[in-house]
Amino acid sequence: MIRRARLTIDAAALGHNLEVARGAACGRSIFAAVKADGYGHGMLHAARAFSAAGAEGFAVATPGEGALLRKGGLAERILVLQGALTGDELSLAVEHSLEMVFHDRSQIDLLERWQSMAGAVPLGRLCAWIKVDTGMHRAGLNPDQLAAARRRLAACPRVNPSIGLMTHFARADEPDPSCTNAQIATFRDLAVGWQGPTSLCNSAALLGHDAGGDWARPGIMLYGGNPFIFGQACDHDLRAGMHLKTVLVAVRDVPRGGAVGYGGRFVAPERMPVGVASVGYGDGYPRHAPDGTPIRVNGQATTLIGRVSMDMITVDLRGIEARVGDEVECWGDRQPIDAVAQAAGTISYELMCQVSGQVRAEARVIGLPDG
Ligand SMILES: *Cc1c(COP(=O)(O)O)cnc(C)c1O
Repeated sequence: MIRRARLTIDAAALGHNLEVARGAACGRSIFAAVKADGYGHGMLHAARAFSAAGAEGFAVATPGEGALLRKGGLAERILVLQGALTGDELSLAVEHSLEMVFHDRSQIDLLERWQSMAGAVPLGRLCAWIKVDTGMHRAGLNPDQLAAARRRLAACPRVNPSIGLMTHFARADEPDPSCTNAQIATFRDLAVGWQGPTSLCNSAALLGHDAGGDWARPGIMLYGGNPFIFGQACDHDLRAGMHLKTVLVAVRDVPRGGAVGYGGRFVAPERMPVGVASVGYGDGYPRHAPDGTPIRVNGQATTLIGRVSMDMITVDLRGIEARVGDEVECWGDRQPIDAVAQAAGTISYELMCQVSGQVRAEARVIGLPDG
């Protein structure tokens, strides 16, 4: 083992969360989002767990990620959210049956050039989705560009005639539904008479809004993160997909007035026991976590004190029974990742994606269907 911080991926929890998404989707199909290495869980570990639980497809950011899923043996449908940037990526899409999102007109220009390069292009048809911007103003065609884009794609002999229509929500995680409702209304107007599948929902929209569509695209909820900026993951019966744990490597006394760690950020208000745990920002623990960030030692709730170092953190052991070698849970089934993220001024998505390569490479997968 290279690092002492250990990442455990709970495949049973991922499968359970997929079931929760299926329940919320009421018969709609699911593209389980596995981009960014399965939100840090390992793309293939995650995809296999979701496949076993009945996901109909996967959503990835890039064609390269889609090709990796195919090489890993996944046969479900694969939606490539950013679509293609080059002709080679379009060829990869045909080769691996990846469904490509067209969110910018330059991608249709590219497709028209690519399909005219006879011989250089593998045989087969491309499944296309058009992403329309209904209010997020990130990726997506403007509504007034939609009809022309559809016409151009439908005129491409290499494109499957059943073209999908999708959009993405900017504020589905907030308690006020008005922006999301406006986006839903815009989408419904644009989708009138649309011949082909539709897709709108991320996790927050799937759990919190009645947005419809043929395919949902949940991500964070499948990993046990709360998709909303309020409440908790357990409110939705979601279970932690990843546990980041380590051990105490020292238990020490700090005198009253002693300043702990770099910069002396925490000053002991009394003589107190302090634990040193073997995890730091080099493992993916957030460096900006302030004093008071929740953490568990031997299952007991306590807090981070002092600045996060590269390989170590310091924790408050007042009232905690602990010895060197004892378990420290940074986040996982006892310590919700959302509480850590909130304390550190970020979101669970970022903490999951930030777990370092060394720790991720040694992740242990538990709860696999075959035991
Ligand atoms: C990442 C992503 C999703 C999944 O979002 P979550 O908030 O993780 O559920 C869905 N759709 C698109 C376009 C995305 O980029």
